[in-house]
Amino acid sequence: MNAPLPVTIAERAARQAEVVQALSAVLPAHALLWRDEQTQPYECDGLTAYRQRPLVVALPEDEAQVCAVLRSCHRLKVPVVARGAGTGLSGGAMPHPLGVTLGLAKFNRIVAVDPLARTARVQCGVRNLAISEAAAPHGLYYAPDPSSQIACTIGGNVAENSGGVHCLKYGLTLHNVLRVRGFTVEGDPIEFGSEALDAPGLDLLTVMVGSEGMLAVVTEVTVKLTPKPQLARCIMASFDDLRRAGDAVAALIASGIIPAGLEMMDKPMTAAVEDFVHAGYDLAAEAILLCESDGTPEEVAEEIERMIAVLRASGATGIEVSESETQRLRFWSGRKNAFPASGRISPDYMCMDSTIPRKRLADVLLAIQAMEQKYGLRCANVFHAGDGNLHPLILYDANDPDQLARCEQFGADILETSVAMGGTVTGEHGVGVEKLNSMCVQFSPEEREQMLALKRAFDPQGLLNPGKVIPTLQRCAEYGRMHVKRGVLAFPDLERF
Ligand SMILES: Cc1cc2nc3c(=O)[nH]c(=O)nc-3n(C[C@H](O)[C@H](O)[C@H](O)COP(=O)(O)OP(=O)(O)OC[C@H]3O[C@@H](n4cnc5c(N)ncnc54)[C@H](O)[C@@H]3O)c2cc1C
Repeated sequence: MNAPLPVTIAERAARQAEVVQALSAVLPAHALLWRDEQTQPYECDGLTAYRQRPLVVALPEDEAQVCAVLRSCHRLKVPVVARGAGTGLSGGAMPHPLGVTLGLAKFNRIVAVDPLARTARVQCGVRNLAISEAAAPHGLYYAPDPSSQIACTIGGNVAENSGGVHCLKYGLTLHNVLRVRGFTVEGDPIEFGSEALDAPGLDLLTVMVGSEGMLAVVTEVTVKLTPKPQLARCIMASFDDLRRAGDAVAALIASGIIPAGLEMMDKPMTAAVEDFVHAGYDLAAEAILLCESDGTPEEVAEEIERMIAVLRASGATGIEVSESETQRLRFWSGRKNAFPASGRISPDYMCMDSTIPRKRLADVLLAIQAMEQKYGLRCANVFHAGDGNLHPLILYDANDPDQLARCEQFGADILETSVAMGGTVTGEHGVGVEKLNSMCVQFSPEEREQMLALKRAFDPQGLLNPGKVIPTLQRCAEYGRMHVKRGVLAFPDLERF
């Protein structure tokens, strides 16, 4: 990833001086960082395997400054990478070596909470959890709950179309955002969506959600708020066999139940988590399911009973239902801390993110077990089972280049196996730089060209977050050739590269 710069050190320094001078005219001195020790904290996001120093970091405090920074960068033809909290797991906020990283953390104001309309207007740098905290006095909350919700921003959530444990029932970011406001790459104001259920014209709100900072910079978001359920209870079900656990997920949904959350963890994952947070998980189980019901007490009682019947019929070896809010939160604390817990069992991990049809869950998990042997690396699995959204965590040591290379191949194999099984290369973490090659497998050249055409319509010079998300024809051609040589997967349609 750290390819040599296409310019000399002296040329870079001259470019940096030019950009700093231009931005000094529109930002106060404290909002501009360019010295090495200042830009280092911005060199990567949650995908720490890839790092790159930005030319300059700009930290605007209001929309007028965002507009002015974008105008200056556009005039100088400087790439701009928007950044929220930098928790992304696909390298979406990884800096451009000759670009400006536009840090939006200072946009952290809740503009308004409207309990009657059940909406909140918030600036893009507001943390996901802070929205629910602001809405709580009105008995409301913001439903999409990424495990990173304590830190990640709503701007980042919009850019990645983030999901979470409760998105199976309440929808992803896309289903919970009504309106976004921001600026084009030229610094012109834009607003898509409306406070009403529908908005006139083409639906560009849905184009913005999930566009990974490639089409515009979002500065304000209006979200839907959801009434807090009266009661929630969680079932922890143990299985002595991965296939039975995977099939139980499909059986639950097929029975017509939409759980408030339906998550799965395999044995290596529960072992790592249990040591860390003592959630009370069954360590003898090959896999556990966490299955939540929420609603009125009567609804919850009835649904829990139906869920238990399906889980038993699917071969659950143990079932425990939370008897108190404390116990429910303890069950979830393990799931929510799964990624940090992995840091206790390995120096580094790479978190994959693909989706598969629910009925293929067990097939993919068994294929991943075989890949552990093939690549000589361990993998722990934790995921949004109800959505078919996998999060295999490949454990490796980033200080060993050979392990990193095997980890990358292992990850690509998982993503492409998911595609082969009818799934997709991303569920909620976005493509960023991580899944560029796998996009070549998922989409045809014609499909990718349509995506590039949309990008050009918003950003003709390709200055917003360049080099991310949509691979070029050339890259796909090279990947196709490498793929055949390595023989990682025999894709029937590889000829199209
Ligand atoms: C421990 C951990 C757990 C996680 N769990 C989940 C999970 O359960 N579900 C999930 O979906 N994700 C999860 N993530 C991934 C990550 O938290 C989300 O992708 C989140 O939405 C990123 O938000 P951020 O503010 O950190 O964005 P950043 O990482 O700063 O940026 C992400 C992308 O958004 C763009 N961007 C940021 N702000 C703006 C803006 N204002 N305008 C335009 N573009 C912008 C950036 O350019 C980049 O492409 C997890 C990450 C970690 C580290």
